[in-house]
Amino acid sequence: MKLAVVTLFPGMFEALLNHGVSGRAVKQAIVEVGLYNPRDYTSDRHQSVDDRPYGGGPGMVMTIEPLRGAINDARRWAAAGKDGETLAVKVVYLSPQGQLLTQAAVNDFVGGSANLVLIAGRYEGVDERLLDLEVDEEWSIGDYVLSGGELPAMVLMDAMIRQLPGVLGHGDSAAQDSFSAGLLDCPHYTRPEVYQGMRVPEVLLSGDHERIRRWRQQQSVARTRARRPDLLAALAPGSEYNAPLIESGQAPNEGGEGPSDGEGN
Ligand code: SAM
Repeated sequence: MKLAVVTLFPGMFEALLNHGVSGRAVKQAIVEVGLYNPRDYTSDRHQSVDDRPYGGGPGMVMTIEPLRGAINDARRWAAAGKDGETLAVKVVYLSPQGQLLTQAAVNDFVGGSANLVLIAGRYEGVDERLLDLEVDEEWSIGDYVLSGGELPAMVLMDAMIRQLPGVLGHGDSAAQDSFSAGLLDCPHYTRPEVYQGMRVPEVLLSGDHERIRRWRQQQSVARTRARRPDLLAALAPGSEYNAPLIESGQAPNEGGEGPSDGEGN
C-alpha cells in the first residue's frame, strides 16, 4: 500500500516511519510512504503557502496553488503501480469537520483498493475551493481542534498500517483488539503471578484454552457493557460474541468464571 502525505512538516513523520510496528512495516516495504511539502511548489522568494482570509478575521489560510502542486505529484506517485499499471487513489483531507474516524472506517480504507493522499492542514485550514477541486473525503480524529493535520494523518496511517497483512505477528493479531469484533478488548496480565497481593485470575493459569477463550469473551462483554454500552447495542444479532446471551449466562457451554462487572479480579 502507498500512503502519500501533503504536509508543511514532513519531519514530524519521522516518529511514525522509524519506530515500532509502523517503522517495521516501512522497513519491510509492506507500506510505502511519500511526503510532499507544499513549500516545494511555491514560486516566490519566501516560499509562501498561506495568506490572509477574505472578509478579515484572525489567522491565515493555506493557498491553493502550492497545495495543488503537492497533491498532483503525490497523486501521481500513489497511482504508479510496480508493473506500470495505474492504481486507484483517494484524496483525504484531515479536518475537525470531517466524518469521525472509527475502526470500521479504518478497516474500509485498508480493505478498499485505493492508495491514499492525505492532506494535513495548518493555520485556519485550506481554501475551500481546494477541497472542492481535489478532495474526495474529509475525516476527523475527534471533536477537538489540533494545530495541524499531521498528528491526525499519523493516527489514520498507524491505525491502517497495523491492519495490513504481515505487519502484526500472530501473537499480537489485530483481530483481538478493541472494536475488531465490536467489543472492547479483555484485560491482560503478565508476570508476576501475584503483585502486591493481586493475583492473576486463576482461569488464565489453567492451560484450558477453551475456558480461557470463554472467560476472555465474557470479560470483553462485561467491560463493554460497563464502559461503552453503545457498542453492545450496535452488535449484530447472531454475531460471534452474541453478547446478550453471554451476559445473561445463557450462552451454550459458558462456565461462568468471570466476575460479573468485568473490572475487578
Ligand atoms: N479552523 C479550523 C476549524 O475550526 O475547523 C481548524 C483548523 S486547525 C487549527 C488546522 C488543521 O489541523 C486543520 O486544517 C486540519 O487539517 C487539522 N486538524 C485539527 N483538528 C483536527 C481533527 N480533530 N481531526 C482532523 N484534523 C484536524
